[in-house]
Amino acid sequence: MRHRGQFARSERFARSRLAKLVHEQPFLCGSLVPLRRVCGKEGCKCNQGELHPGLCVALRVGEKRKMIYVPQALEATARRWVSTYQKAWRLMEEISYASLERFLKGKEKVREAREAKAAERGRHR
Ligand SMILES: [Zn+2]
Repeated sequence: MRHRGQFARSERFARSRLAKLVHEQPFLCGSLVPLRRVCGKEGCKCNQGELHPGLCVALRVGEKRKMIYVPQALEATARRWVSTYQKAWRLMEEISYASLERFLKGKEKVREAREAKAAERGRHR
C-alpha cells in the first residue's frame, strides 16, 4: 500500500470522513419517497379522500427495485440511514474527482512519453 501522504489534504479529509461513516453508522442505499395512503380503518377520514401522510424507502435489492413502507416509529431512523448513505455518496464522489484528476495526469504522462519516443525515433531516422 502506498503512503497516505500521496493524497491532498482535502482528499484525506474526505477519505477519513467516509471511513468513519461507513465504519460507525448504519445506512440505506435508497431514497425517501413521501406518499399519501389509506389506512384501511372503517369510517376513517382517509376513506373520504383525506389521505394519511406516509413514507417509503425506495431501494434496490439485488436486481429488483423495492418500495418499503416506513412505519412512523421508524421514520427518524430511516431518514438518518438514508442521509448517512447520501453523505457517504458525496464523499465517494469527492474522492472519485480527485482520483480522476490523478488518472488524467497519468494519461498526460503516457501521451508525453509516447510523443518523446516518437520524436526520438524521428531523430534517428
Ligand atoms: Zn385512515
